[in-house]
Amino acid sequence: MESLIGLVNRIQRACTVLGDYGGGDNAFSSLWEALPSVAVVGGQSSGKSSVLESIVGRDFLPRGSGIVTRRPLVLQLHKTEDGDQEYAEFLHLPKRRLTDFSMVRKEIQDETDRVTGRTKQISPVPIHLSIYSPNVVNLTLIDLPGLTKVAVEGQPESIVQDIEAMVRSYVEKPNSIILAISPANQDIATSDAIKLAREVDPSGDRTFGVLTKLDLMDKGTNALDVLEGKSYRLQHPWVGIVNRSQADINKNVDMIVARRKEREYFATSPDYGHLASKMGSEYLAKLLSKHLESVIRARIPSITSLINKSIDELESEMDHLGRPIAVDAGAQLYTILELCRAFDRIFKEHLDGGRPGGDRIYGVFDNQLPAALRKLPFDRHLSLQNVRKVVSEADGYQPHLIAPEQGYRRLIEGALNYFRGPAEASVDAVHFVLKELVRKSIGETKELKRFPTLQAEIAAASNEALERFREDGRKTVVRLVDMESSYLTVEFFRRLPQEVEKGGNPAAAATNPDRYSEGHFRRIGSNVSSYVGMVSETLKNTIPKAVVYCQVREAKQSLLNHFYTQLGKKEAKQLLQLLDEDPALMERRQQCAKRLELYKAARDEVDSVSWAR
Ligand code: GDP
Ligand code: MG
Repeated sequence: MESLIGLVNRIQRACTVLGDYGGGDNAFSSLWEALPSVAVVGGQSSGKSSVLESIVGRDFLPRGSGIVTRRPLVLQLHKTEDGDQEYAEFLHLPKRRLTDFSMVRKEIQDETDRVTGRTKQISPVPIHLSIYSPNVVNLTLIDLPGLTKVAVEGQPESIVQDIEAMVRSYVEKPNSIILAISPANQDIATSDAIKLAREVDPSGDRTFGVLTKLDLMDKGTNALDVLEGKSYRLQHPWVGIVNRSQADINKNVDMIVARRKEREYFATSPDYGHLASKMGSEYLAKLLSKHLESVIRARIPSITSLINKSIDELESEMDHLGRPIAVDAGAQLYTILELCRAFDRIFKEHLDGGRPGGDRIYGVFDNQLPAALRKLPFDRHLSLQNVRKVVSEADGYQPHLIAPEQGYRRLIEGALNYFRGPAEASVDAVHFVLKELVRKSIGETKELKRFPTLQAEIAAASNEALERFREDGRKTVVRLVDMESSYLTVEFFRRLPQEVEKGGNPAAAATNPDRYSEGHFRRIGSNVSSYVGMVSETLKNTIPKAVVYCQVREAKQSLLNHFYTQLGKKEAKQLLQLLDEDPALMERRQQCAKRLELYKAARDEVDSVSWAR
């Protein structure tokens, strides 16, 4: 009969460990919320904590006058096998089993103070406590701060409303069972507990009326009208309780003794003797447990569907997060290579045009390079003044006779040197485009996001490779330029003397050295200029070929080749390091896996329990 509650308790317990408990802002707190629990409601000092203690049969809660309970206490009772050691465990102190229950009380006080300070303030942050004992029934009970009417010294004015709002947040949930505590020595008409319970549960379906302090009633009065349901009618019968008085507590009267005394009180009471079997804390515990059982049974279908929905959500989150990494080195290497290939594929798509960016390389050849070539300072280099200077210096003491061979050579070599600039600039420009594409591709390789280390390594390896390609490209284009200046096209110059003759009569010109010389140098300048123009046209075509050959083609074919070789030499440990995931992500996957495990176990348990009958 207790198996269902035990099951729900276990699920709730597991949920709390994962932080999926009621009141949490966690998306998965819904399962917890769907499971019923019992909240204890009443005015301050009405005996709430005392009732909880007698249900547990253990002395472990801070009690007394004034505001003692200042944070919700979520108390989960787990029934264990007869003879098992009784112990308590706090959620905030995992793995610490407390067997001394006075330590439990102290920890509740300390933990309350940790959040609220040593004031009379309250906090809605619950304390979670589990008690494992053969002497309890499976139940989840929530002890709450008592309802008050006025703020006392040291409390903010809003405390009255704050407490009510907090209590209300627990009892207004339809799955909450309300244990409404009223002291018998006060008129039931003034009961805070009944007032609130009636508001949130008008039909009284989920309210259990508990009357405490029967022993403290004025002599000659009794609470029969209330206990028999004549004063205030509820769906469930009222239960009368006699807890330990403050004097008993001070004298350390044992709980077991107290329970016995309570039994005796009812058994021998002239007023309540006929109700004795339905009074007292032990009866209350059984009543609650039975009710909880039936509530849970009725809820099984909705709990099952909630669990299934959560499992679906978790499964899809798991897919999104990626499955855990393989353990053996071979599989790890395979994973790494797969990731590298995924990146490489995207990078190639950028180059080949499936994705944008590759067109910028053509932009370098089509715009940047021709523009740079046009801007070369040949005007200055082939100015009349400079041509004369270079030619004269090349002639030495004897001026040239027909064509200044040396002068031509020097002018041309000087001019061709200028081509190095645009050639190298093209190499660099393409290099930067490729680098940018690597960066983009890394970002676009979603599978890599999980592995920041590998991501960085691939980026570094790619950039290193691009650096090598750039160096090769640079050497090659410089060589192209050097080749142009190392051997001049003879054909071009063979044609020159005829042109000179066409230009006029050199003999006549010789009679006027100044004029001859100016026209002569101009012609030399223009000849060099047209040769240089021809070379420029050639380089405009060959530089792109060299750049594509050395850089683009290599990047496409062997960007990660070097990296692959290195990978092959790595040991298992190093491979694992590469697959070192983002810790936050690992944490999320672990959380997700734990939840999944919990929810699946819960589903199986719920299935087996619900089929058992
Ligand atoms: P809470 O503020 O509602 O949690 O009330 P407590 O459980 O702390 O009890 C307040 C005081 O009332 C304590 O001193 C208890 O000993 C005393 N008390 C509670 N119930 C009874 C009872 O049934 N009989 C007697 N004599 N004292 C009680
Ligand atoms: Mg209390």
